[in-house]
Amino acid sequence: VSGPTPPGTAPGLAGIHAGIRACRRCVGAGYLPEAHPVFRGHPGQRWMLVGQAPGPRAHEAGVPWSGASGTLLKAWFARAGFDPDRFLDDWYLTSLTKCFPGKAQGGPGDRAPSRAELALCRPWLDTEIACVQPRVVVTIGRMAAEALVPGAKGTPLRDLVGTVHDVDLGYGPVPVVPLPHPSGVARWLNDPAHRALVDVAMAKLAKLRHGVIS
Ligand code: SF4
Repeated sequence: VSGPTPPGTAPGLAGIHAGIRACRRCVGAGYLPEAHPVFRGHPGQRWMLVGQAPGPRAHEAGVPWSGASGTLLKAWFARAGFDPDRFLDDWYLTSLTKCFPGKAQGGPGDRAPSRAELALCRPWLDTEIACVQPRVVVTIGRMAAEALVPGAKGTPLRDLVGTVHDVDLGYGPVPVVPLPHPSGVARWLNDPAHRALVDVAMAKLAKLRHGVIS
């Protein structure tokens, strides 16, 4: 893990959240005009969702997955047995970078965080994982899968979605389930074969859910 270490050696989750809310690293480094970290969670949550970065709706609302992508994500999870109305209760919601990076220049969608921004924010994610110790982690998009699944770098999303990886996150092997971004501008989901991979992933997530709650 590169980049600065969050303050404190073993802060509780409230201390970690206070540190993230006060974080201005990307502003100080000149990558963002303003910092508005968006994440949500509480101790004891068994499911962690790691996205790439908040989108504009989450930025405005201050709650992750507030837009149409969140609606589709909840519909996917419902197929794995999760109650959409309990989304915010069941899932610890975080991302590789916690602040909206802005819109992409010259194209649809949001700007992907740079390698430098990823490095600046990564210690927060590592601290969240170490503190919450989720039983299952779901990653959204290729960048998040690459960040958490060893060997995933350069692997096409079609070879990641539908697989489950037992990853040592520092407190034992944890199943990591890669998903694509449930975005209207992501053409990846237009391919029926890709949507079938999401079905496979949801079937595997349903089995993991059964194993965790039973
Ligand atoms: S993206 Fe992460 S490191 Fe950058 S300012 Fe926001 S919270 Fe801090």
